[in-house]
Amino acid sequence: MKTGQPNCPGAKDETFKDGITNGAQWYDVPGGMQDYNYLHGNCLEITMELSCCKYPPASELHKEWDLNRESLLAYIEKVHIGVRGYVKEAISGAALANASIMVAGIRHNLTTGTHGEYYRLLVPGTYNITAVVPGYKSVTINSVQVLEGKAVEHNFTMSPVVSEGADSTTVRTESMTSTSGPSIPTTTTNSPNSTVVPSEENKSSPPILPPEPQPIQPQEFRHHTYVDMELFLRKYSSEFPSIVHLYSVGRSVDGHELYVMAISDNPAVHEHGEPEFKYIGNMHGNEVVGRELLLNLIEYLCRNYGTDTEVTKLVNSTRIHIMPSMNPDGYEIGTEGDVKGYKGRNNSNNFDLNRNFPDQFATITDPRQPETIAVMNWLKSIPFVLSANLHGGSLVVNYPYDDDKKGISQYSQSPDDQVFQRVSRAYSQENPLMHNGHPCEDLYPGEYFEDGITNGAQWYNVRGSMQDWNYVNTNCFEVTIELGCVKYPMAKELPKYWEQNRRALLQFIKQVHTGVKGTVSDSRDGTGIPNVTISVDEIDHNITTAHTGDYWRLLNPGTYSVTASAHGYKSVKTYATVPKDGVEVVDFRLTRVHSDSNGQPLKGPQPTQNPSEKELQSLIKDLSLGQGLEQLVSSTDTENNFRYRGYKELAGVLRGLTLNFPKITSLRSLGQSVEFRTIWALEISNKPGEAELSEPKIRFVAGIHGNAPVGTELLLEFAAFLCINYGKNPAITKLINETRIVIVPSVNPDGRELAVEKECTSTQGLSNAHGKDLDTDFFGNASQRVVESQPETRAMMDLILEKSYTLSVALDGGSLVATYPYDKPVQSVENEGTLKYLASVYANNHPKMHLGDAGCSNNGQMSNIPDGVMRAAERQSHMGSMKDFSMDFGHCPEITVYTGCCFFPPAEQLATLWAENKKALLSMLVEVHKGVRGVVRDKSGKPIVGAIIVLNGGVRVFTTEGGYFHALLAPGNHNIEAVADGYQQQRQEVVVSSYEAANSIIIVFDMDNSIFGLPREFVVASAAASMTALVVTACIIWCVCAAKSNRQKDGFHRLRQHRDDYEDEIRLTSMGSKKSLLAHEFQDESESDEETLYANKI
Ligand SMILES: [Zn+2]
Repeated sequence: MKTGQPNCPGAKDETFKDGITNGAQWYDVPGGMQDYNYLHGNCLEITMELSCCKYPPASELHKEWDLNRESLLAYIEKVHIGVRGYVKEAISGAALANASIMVAGIRHNLTTGTHGEYYRLLVPGTYNITAVVPGYKSVTINSVQVLEGKAVEHNFTMSPVVSEGADSTTVRTESMTSTSGPSIPTTTTNSPNSTVVPSEENKSSPPILPPEPQPIQPQEFRHHTYVDMELFLRKYSSEFPSIVHLYSVGRSVDGHELYVMAISDNPAVHEHGEPEFKYIGNMHGNEVVGRELLLNLIEYLCRNYGTDTEVTKLVNSTRIHIMPSMNPDGYEIGTEGDVKGYKGRNNSNNFDLNRNFPDQFATITDPRQPETIAVMNWLKSIPFVLSANLHGGSLVVNYPYDDDKKGISQYSQSPDDQVFQRVSRAYSQENPLMHNGHPCEDLYPGEYFEDGITNGAQWYNVRGSMQDWNYVNTNCFEVTIELGCVKYPMAKELPKYWEQNRRALLQFIKQVHTGVKGTVSDSRDGTGIPNVTISVDEIDHNITTAHTGDYWRLLNPGTYSVTASAHGYKSVKTYATVPKDGVEVVDFRLTRVHSDSNGQPLKGPQPTQNPSEKELQSLIKDLSLGQGLEQLVSSTDTENNFRYRGYKELAGVLRGLTLNFPKITSLRSLGQSVEFRTIWALEISNKPGEAELSEPKIRFVAGIHGNAPVGTELLLEFAAFLCINYGKNPAITKLINETRIVIVPSVNPDGRELAVEKECTSTQGLSNAHGKDLDTDFFGNASQRVVESQPETRAMMDLILEKSYTLSVALDGGSLVATYPYDKPVQSVENEGTLKYLASVYANNHPKMHLGDAGCSNNGQMSNIPDGVMRAAERQSHMGSMKDFSMDFGHCPEITVYTGCCFFPPAEQLATLWAENKKALLSMLVEVHKGVRGVVRDKSGKPIVGAIIVLNGGVRVFTTEGGYFHALLAPGNHNIEAVADGYQQQRQEVVVSSYEAANSIIIVFDMDNSIFGLPREFVVASAAASMTALVVTACIIWCVCAAKSNRQKDGFHRLRQHRDDYEDEIRLTSMGSKKSLLAHEFQDESESDEETLYANKI
């Protein structure tokens, strides 16, 4: 460029001195961008012509970069030349924006930015520069020397143009901070009159310590609207960041945040051994006293932390969660002065939230509300111990149960009745009115509650209450507190309520520190064990340990027999004496029940864990417990600009991913659709395209029905999410390094092209271009099929038959449920427990699916599905489904996830759908590492390929290249047997944990790898040659094996294994169309029927 001789074709003799030119001199351009920049902004812009060729071949790009690299950087440096500085107000020092910066002799002014800053590019020289602001005296700095290089700094300080006595108008902006706004002055601030009184008395009592200063009482007494409350919470969270953590557990129907303020010495996390407590207020929107009291309590705890002993101790030893309003929508329409009305009681969909929780005795038919769902999910994520739900309209503490089987008003006792009575009294006795037991004489004369407490059902029967749900479904004990007879009192009454309840509110929190607490740990390495059941003799209510093994069991003073029991461990029982007003620490150390003490131990060395394996173990544990996944999800934000992408764009996204993340992605075509669209499979792995056999492999598939494309978009986003966070987020990086992830976003691209956005029920695009519903086309054999399989089906079948998958997740639409095999009608499913468990992991990590309200008004789907999980055939039984094929022929469990009622919802909903499914999709990447895995070898260390691992005497998986196997199993104890021909069978009991990655086991066979002295391969090859030989050989092997074996059932497993080997062989090499006699003779279950038929297909 600098030669000034571009020598471009068509303008060979064009020259520019130094390679630059004035625009208009070259040619006139009206409406150019550079002139607009200069004339209308502060920005100086030039236009660069980089090359003669406008669109050079890609191979030239590198050369262009080399030519321009230095120039691009040098040009950026020029932004620093000239003069720069700030324009400020003389008195307050405030920045002055929009001040004009004028340079004498240059008719081009700049203006300052919002911080009063300016940058005036100038070439070296001497300048006079003036700043002009209306209302201020202009200031000129003369003889400003501009040198080469970095800009000189000159600041302008502007004095207002004085107009007598007006100086007070300019600077009176501050001093707001000390007067705390419109708060109502109240009885007790830190006023001296309250502290003076006891001083004389103190002189006579032990004089050593000066009396502790009285705690500071709240000052902000007023009714807080949502906006006001939100600002209040934000104010306290910014003022007391070390003890306060503000978060939201979800949104109300109208989109208000359900805020929670956590107050503790380490407020953002669960600390091992520190109990979690909560207060929830304003569940009924027009019962507002709780809401205001809780805001008062926040103020009280914050302001007295560090100075008041009681508050400091409580905050340091407890995590206190305060939700001032569970029904912010209802509150907004409530009316001040409402004594016993209903306006605002319900949420915005007009449902009573305290009748909206699942009930142990009755079915709640009202749809579960967003506020209810948010609270239920919140309780799942934090190990709460004790809670109170604050209401109004009476004056009493109400404890479980709230109802009984018959639905009548009589005492309904919970197993922890005594504990509930005690914690209820702890509140009522501190409230000077409540404990009298005569709540509202004007409203309900004659009503009496002894000690100001009552059993819920005895008072009146409530179905679907929150307190009962807490107690029945979580570790948390909750009571319901009625704070006063008036639901929505006048603001001036609020200080009175604080005065009546402040001691009670603190006293109740302290009850979280009563009973028995401790840690349950593994005797082997001392790590805490989660989900251990803690039971107390004679109290039929168990609680479980939190994720680091800590637990709390509220109990009244006395002596108890306490037992800790967990899967895979020996139970331990001990006695504990709970002191009066205190807590007894009881720690348990549990020993594993393991193979060395039970059954036949595995031969050979157990593998030693390398650091990377250990790291994976701890990652899987972290992500499986508590808020691990939740935190991963919230710490990884991704793009929110969702839109639907048709086939062309989909291919573009996939290619874009491989171009931008070449080290962890590879893209391949599985085949083409009827209309010749490619069915793509994207692999994400640290070594894409390489077979890392020891790693589990997971498949995500979407779009088998083209009219339900949400899954496609979710998987594209999921792929982008994984790639973008690789190397950035350690958990994602590790998961990608340790997993082989294969994503098939669109199985039916032809159907997808026909589908129409916003069609929630239309079947247009459901099938492929031949009108075939592909999910009815997966048959493993020719005889069951009327016509040839579709090209899309064939593509997927080939992928499934790679047989190396541990888990598959298919995404579909039209309901909100996760289904597990089979789609075909079968009597029983062998490993139903495991399949159901896998589906429930997805559903449980989805904010709504696990609630089981799959009811979609548009298609009459059933609702009330337990855990949001069902066997596929129960939903819609059909033959030839992809997941059945995956089970029977791919030996891989597949679940189908229905992401929502609407097949093709509007694009605006995609962001929400992604938010709902992100955690669940990630949970599958975690889940695929669990179960049981290992490697099978012979004595010489040679891996045995094709050995069968029989799970619980039924389901089989096969060792792959390298002798590896990996099978997912529901948590619990399982039997596995390893069977390979010519070897002694191996058997072991394994314990599968819900939160631990599979431990690698090594199975070593110790017998000679030969059959009749012939190499096994030879036997197999000759068997394949003829059907007769096959049968004969199999019989021979069977006889030999049976003879060699001590156990009866071994022969059976051996036989099955041979059969499978031979079938593989046949499938690959022979064209036989007859049914295999062998398979026919020895088939045992429906599953094997299809499998053998398949063997003859090709
Ligand atoms: Zn209420």
